[in-house]
Amino acid sequence: MNAGDRLDPQIKELGHFIGGKHVNGASGRFGEVFNPTAGRLTGRVALASKSETESAIANAHAAFPDWANTSPQTRARVMFRFKELIEKNMEQLMMLVASEHGKVLSDAKGSIQRGLEVVEFACGIPHLLKGEFSDSIASGMDVYSMRQPLGVCAGITPFNFPAMVPMWMFPMAIACGNTFILKPSEKDPSCPMRLAELLLEAGAPPGVLNVLNGDKVAVDTLLTDPRVQAVSFVGSTPIARYVFATASVNGKRVQSMGGAKNHMVVMPDADIDSVAEALMGAAYGSAGERCMAISVAVPVGEKTGNNLIEAMAPRVRALKIGSSLDNASEMGPLVTQVHRDKVKSYVDLGVKEGASLVVDGREFRQQDNPGGFFIGGCLFDKVNRDMRIYKEEIFGPVLSVVRARNFDEALSLPDQHEYGNGVAIFTRNGDVARNFANKVQCGMVGINVPIPVPLSFHTFGGWKNSMFGDMNQHGPEGVRFYTRIKTITARWREGVAPKADFGMPLSR
Ligand code: NAD
Repeated sequence: MNAGDRLDPQIKELGHFIGGKHVNGASGRFGEVFNPTAGRLTGRVALASKSETESAIANAHAAFPDWANTSPQTRARVMFRFKELIEKNMEQLMMLVASEHGKVLSDAKGSIQRGLEVVEFACGIPHLLKGEFSDSIASGMDVYSMRQPLGVCAGITPFNFPAMVPMWMFPMAIACGNTFILKPSEKDPSCPMRLAELLLEAGAPPGVLNVLNGDKVAVDTLLTDPRVQAVSFVGSTPIARYVFATASVNGKRVQSMGGAKNHMVVMPDADIDSVAEALMGAAYGSAGERCMAISVAVPVGEKTGNNLIEAMAPRVRALKIGSSLDNASEMGPLVTQVHRDKVKSYVDLGVKEGASLVVDGREFRQQDNPGGFFIGGCLFDKVNRDMRIYKEEIFGPVLSVVRARNFDEALSLPDQHEYGNGVAIFTRNGDVARNFANKVQCGMVGINVPIPVPLSFHTFGGWKNSMFGDMNQHGPEGVRFYTRIKTITARWREGVAPKADFGMPLSR
């Protein structure tokens, strides 16, 4: 059934936000937006055509010269006001995230806060854009460098962080003097639309931030249009790889973040209760729909493994699962029924593959919301590296325990996995922790920290199939990604004109 066939007055319609205005969709194609707690259709979102995408690009392209010529201080002031407006509208933004994504309110708030921290970092843009200067590198000659914006930049974002991931991108790009087209996930587009309204209210001129809703048609146009200079992508690995290849071959700068399978190594000296508490949040928070969720626990030694299962099983069974808007809930539903069914089928697969299902959440029913897209927490023991439930990203509340005999075997698991986003080790031994952090083949490492998401003034990015491209999100890398460097060599010298010199210019 198409969304339009069961449209009732409570179902909202979302178009695009282009040139500072709401614009209705014109393609006649729509995506469905659900409230995952109720399992009810709540909206339909326009999916842009090629020509609508080109019109968004034209708006951003026209807004670029004036914005690039606006002083960095003025751009910073827009970011300061944007920060205040996000804080003022926090409740509403949290509700939008929780009601379309399904994550619980405390988690929705935390995710907006992490995005807000990037806005705070972008407030320092006058300092961050300062170039370098070398005085008198030859007689009367100086060299200096400056960072200049690229032009129109595009961001394509996933469903699991409808506020935070867009805010990894557009505040940095815009503070650097670029204009931006955000193509958010079609599953939860309301929060990104509201953020664009707030940035306009903060003083960004129309066309500086455009939100274009859509699917592959919009994305393909953004990846190939010559006016788009840079593409930031966050999503699943097959699409990340495709975006990287397509945008690169079309001459664009690309940073493309993909999926993950994050391990937590538990050494025999770790305090098992602290480990279990950390694992509960890291594996089941946001119903496991986080690219930095821990989906594999690796206890070292038989006794550590047994203790870990004993500590985890009752906690997983006791998870408070409920409405994303209920403050008592620790875990909400999954984003869509299709995704819930996919996660469930992975649990079926794990049983078939021979893993031991210690806690089975497949039959969980949420009494107040029987139609919601819920699944209970699941815990597997005795998973091995040949199983598909170990190799593939499940993206749900399913934790696999893979037992290792010693440290080297534990280290080899994240090292040999195709993904290399985040990883953690829990231990009281500094030698072991340091050795692990130096050797492990992943981009972000936690030592007694289960989800090592770097703060905004550091930089976010994985290794291997978790990221394509070589410049990370936010932090100083974000400034480098959204600017290009120009180096100027200048001579100001009165007196005799120098004679022609046919050799290689050298500094004298
Ligand atoms: P997804 O890849 O399905 O979608 C991401 C974006 O790509 C969306 O905007 C979507 O509209 C677009 N898209 C989907 N199919 C496309 C196609 N064929 N051609 C062009 N564009 C297409 O990802 P998702 O399901 O929305 O998000 C979950 C995934 O994102 C997980 O794999 C998760 O690990 C990953 N993720 C990674 C990070 C990170 O930093 N590494 C952060 C958050 C999420």
